[in-house]
Amino acid sequence: MIISTISVLLLIIAIIVGLSLIFIFVAGKYERLEVVKSSYALGTIINFRVFGSKGEKAIEEAIQKLNDIDDKMSAFKEYSEISKINSKAGVNPEAVSEDTYFVVKKAVEYSKILEGTFDPTIRPLVKLWNIGTEEEIIPEKSQIEETLKLVNYNDVILDENNYSTMLKHRKQALDVGGIAKGFAADEARDIFYKHKIKSALIDLGGNIFALGSKEDGTSWKVGIQNPFKPRGEYIGVLSVKNKSVVTSGNYERYFMKDGKRFHHIIDPKTGYPSQSKIISATIISDNSIDGDGLSTGVYIIGIDKALEIIEAIDGVDAIFITEDKKVYKTSGIDKNILTLTDEQFYEKL
Ligand code: ADP
Ligand code: MG
Repeated sequence: MIISTISVLLLIIAIIVGLSLIFIFVAGKYERLEVVKSSYALGTIINFRVFGSKGEKAIEEAIQKLNDIDDKMSAFKEYSEISKINSKAGVNPEAVSEDTYFVVKKAVEYSKILEGTFDPTIRPLVKLWNIGTEEEIIPEKSQIEETLKLVNYNDVILDENNYSTMLKHRKQALDVGGIAKGFAADEARDIFYKHKIKSALIDLGGNIFALGSKEDGTSWKVGIQNPFKPRGEYIGVLSVKNKSVVTSGNYERYFMKDGKRFHHIIDPKTGYPSQSKIISATIISDNSIDGDGLSTGVYIIGIDKALEIIEAIDGVDAIFITEDKKVYKTSGIDKNILTLTDEQFYEKL
């Protein structure tokens, strides 16, 4: 009797030990330790979700890097490299860091691809409108016309030798706000890679990099914001692994006047907030700098051109929503990637 009680006890202990070993093994395999952290940089709220024992350290390093990028590239900070380029416009070149040089160079490349709908010399116009700040106003038409003359990406002079950058004319000014978050997301991703992180979600105010897959090996799910609804209501879901998902929308920053919406994406041809029928442009790509650079410009360029341009770029896909609630997608977006969940929105075939 005693012997059999002991053997039952031993059996139970053996089972418990066995189960915990299996648990440790599984936990090790999936690195189930999850670290979630929020921060603020680049004018937006930043959310990290990282799986793995190095998560805490990796996030700390990523936040430092994002603050460093903000310090270098903000058009609002007096001593940023971008501000120094701006204050020397038409006078002298400014030698900048490799990071800033790379972002400006990429911005000019995208300006060409997007036929000037994207333009990093947009700053004087952005400043005139002041959208998203307390001083937002509808400027006089004459002011807009005058300021428009300053906007021209062909006036960005780049010298690879010492990373110097100069604007041709006085009063011209750079604003890399339409592309810097993409660069920042890629930098955060690379820091996570360095720390051997295999699963993470990097969210810079809707500029998302889904690193690897979820801890259980399935795809990350990224919602596409309903442009007519408050943040967090989605028209559909994207299933992605190791991809950047970036959306430009008219619902991000705007003000209303006389029933009209004035949003923060300015058309460099007209000087007014973009009037194209696209109200949301999502780019899915391997690098977030490409997604960010492209999303702002295709938003402005109009649906036909937008589809044509994205189709022509290898490894990049897009989803556009127009004001009549139609959803357009490029050929790489199949049923496994996009699931529409709001029946008010329908796919344009
Ligand atoms: P968000 O900042 O909402 O993520 P975007 O990536 O589309 O959106 O960038 C919008 C920002 O880019 C604006 O706040 C402004 O600083 C800048 N910008 C506005 N219009 C243009 C444009 N036509 N070309 C380049 N940058 C622009
Ligand atoms: Mg952008």
